[in-house]
This record gives sequence, C-alpha cells and structure tokens, in this order.
Amino acid sequence: MPPQVVVGSGGVGKSCLTVRFLKDEFTNEYDPTIEENYRKNVTVDNVQCTAYIIDTAGQHEYKALRDQHLKDGKGFLLVFAVNDKSSLEEVKQLREQIMKLKETRKVPFVICANKCDLPADQVEVDMNSVKAFCQEVKIPLLSTSAKENINVEESFQDLVRECRSG
Ligand code: GDP
Ligand code: MG
Repeated sequence: MPPQVVVGSGGVGKSCLTVRFLKDEFTNEYDPTIEENYRKNVTVDNVQCTAYIIDTAGQHEYKALRDQHLKDGKGFLLVFAVNDKSSLEEVKQLREQIMKLKETRKVPFVICANKCDLPADQVEVDMNSVKAFCQEVKIPLLSTSAKENINVEESFQDLVRECRSG
C-alpha cells in the first residue's frame, strides 16, 4: 500500500501517536526534526496489509521534503492537539494544501484531536465546532491520546479503511 502520512504542527504528538501504534509505547524523547518511516502488518476488516507510515517533521527547513510526502502520500492522518488552537488551523490548511497538490478532493483523511487526556481547563479548541467541520467535509474525527492509548489503533485502522474505499 502507498504511504500513509502523519502530518500536523510540531508538538501535537505525531511521533507519540505513531510509536504508540507501532510499538505500544509512550516516551517523551522524540526529536521534532527527525522524520521516520515504518512498516507494520495490520488487519483491518479481516483483511491483512502492510501499512507504510511516514511520521513527518514539521520544521520549516523540511518543507520541500514534506511537500513531496504530501504529493506521494495515499492517506493522511491530520493531527492537532486540543490545547493548541493554531494546530487546528494548520490541519485545515494542510487539508486544503493536500487536495490542491493532488488535484483531487477525494483524498483519504482521518483527523485526530490528540491529547484528549488533558484536563478541560487546558483545552483551547471548541470540539463541537470541530465535529461540525468534520461532518461537513466528511472526514472521520477521533479524540486520541498517545499518552493514555485512546483511539490510536482505531485512527490508523480508519485510515487504512478510508484508503481502501477511496
Ligand atoms: P510531534 O512534534 O508532533 O511529533 O510531537 P511529539 O510526538 O514529539 O510530542 C510532543 C509533546 O507532546 C511531547 O512532550 C509528548 O510527550 C506530548 N504528547 C504527545 N502525545 C500526547 C498525548 O496524547 N497527551 C499528552 N498529554 N501529551 C502528549
Ligand atoms: Mg515528531
């Protein structure tokens, strides 16, 4: 299967989500500038395939590389953090940018509202409006926590499913 690419602002938890999915571990020690590629055999709806996952680095110096991934990727896990309003805007912009680069509006996306474990007083994002947005653009939305292992497997599985049906 062509690559599934994890994108979003720096610090939203892309590396933590990816490693949680691949190894069921949570650590704090990811270099934000390092990009990693992984392969994992996954079974979704009783069908096995090899997911090829790219954990992108959000740094501006890597923009050219990231644009290449946006072009080559098949499906995209768009990640924002619930305590970072600007990361939600970044997700919306990335979606537009990807559809433009790929010259189609039919791109498999899944949106992750990550860090859902944080207490309510740290949440900056209005989840009702995020839900409304995702319904409007027909993108599955999951509240995830790499830290507490909530909806991580489901997010990647949904993405494989979206890639198959798209
Ligand atoms: P990336 O730059 O998007 O790859 O972000 P990282 O995966 O490196 O995570 C950035 C920071 O957010 C780290 O300090 C993580 O410990 C923290 N983090 C990641 N996921 C979660 C989560 O689900 N909940 C909480 N509370 N913190 C998280
Ligand atoms: Mg990272």
